[in-house]
Amino acid sequence: GNGGNALLEYPRPLDHLHATATRQLALAEDIAHALTTDQFEMHYQPICVLQDGRVAGFEALIRWNHPREGMISPLDFLWLAEQTGQIRAIGMWTLERACRDWPVLRQATDHSSPFVSVNLSANQLTGDHFVHDVKLILERHHMTAEELKMELTETIIIGRPEIASQVLNNLIALGGTLALDDFGTGYSGLDYLQRYPIATVKIDRAFITPLLQTAPSLEIVNKTIELAHSLGMNVVAEGIENEEIRQKLTQLRCDFGQGWLFGKPLALDDIRKRL
Ligand code: C2E
Ligand code: MG
Ligand code: MG
Ligand code: MG
Repeated sequence: GNGGNALLEYPRPLDHLHATATRQLALAEDIAHALTTDQFEMHYQPICVLQDGRVAGFEALIRWNHPREGMISPLDFLWLAEQTGQIRAIGMWTLERACRDWPVLRQATDHSSPFVSVNLSANQLTGDHFVHDVKLILERHHMTAEELKMELTETIIIGRPEIASQVLNNLIALGGTLALDDFGTGYSGLDYLQRYPIATVKIDRAFITPLLQTAPSLEIVNKTIELAHSLGMNVVAEGIENEEIRQKLTQLRCDFGQGWLFGKPLALDDIRKRL
């Protein structure tokens, strides 16, 4: 989710955190500490049926409640966790937390196939036990594989094709559902669309925001939806902030929407309160 830079997964480090190796080391130590002292939080953003606004599922988005720096965005620490390998532990925490919270989230959905969607990162997939761990987590929380959607970016798939094909095929064998995140922002061709059984394409906010202003974005979104549908995939538009854009996307026959119009990411307690 970085709106354009595809070589690095998380290319937006805070300058002051990025400044020196010393700072990076300190940040890495803070991340390790955060994992053991419960400083990470999961927020959930609704993904809605475009036509009627029913909640079909939620995307799990990690937050770091840092004791000195306050709430830190995932874009400001996941890039380092990716480099240090800590992303694997964070990724397990993420999956575990989303599945633990599923009973509450499911109650807040109104759809025949409700889901919680979790972002995966490149180095997470390289662990030996990843698919096995996913299976155990699903079993522990009595979830079906269809209830857990996994979001991958083009960059992850393209950057490590050999790992991607093995792990993704194993995830799919498990019954898992894959979503292609930030569609259109990578440098890739469309090859992987025919190689992997991707269920969902998420069109990046970079194409949705200018939808009513620029003809190219309208054409790109229009053709992406047509292509996805013709391949049997459904489409989520990211970053819908107003009603006009929602209406346009409905006209274009987009299936689902995510964005501030429908709701910002919320802590589980806030979702519970709204039930
Ligand atoms: P993403 O997966 O593309 O997630 C969507 C991002 O867009 C989220 O940012 C969300 O808060 C933001 N967003 C949603 N609707 C709107 C809108 O209407 N307007 C605007 N301006 N923004 C909107 P967030 O939570 O800061 O996450 C950023 C990225 O960090 C995510 O992009 C994802 O790539 C990554 N990320 C977040 N949580 C996790 C995680 O648990 N694991 C991994 N590996 N990556 C994560
Ligand atoms: Mg994004
Ligand atoms: Mg995502
Ligand atoms: Mg996204």
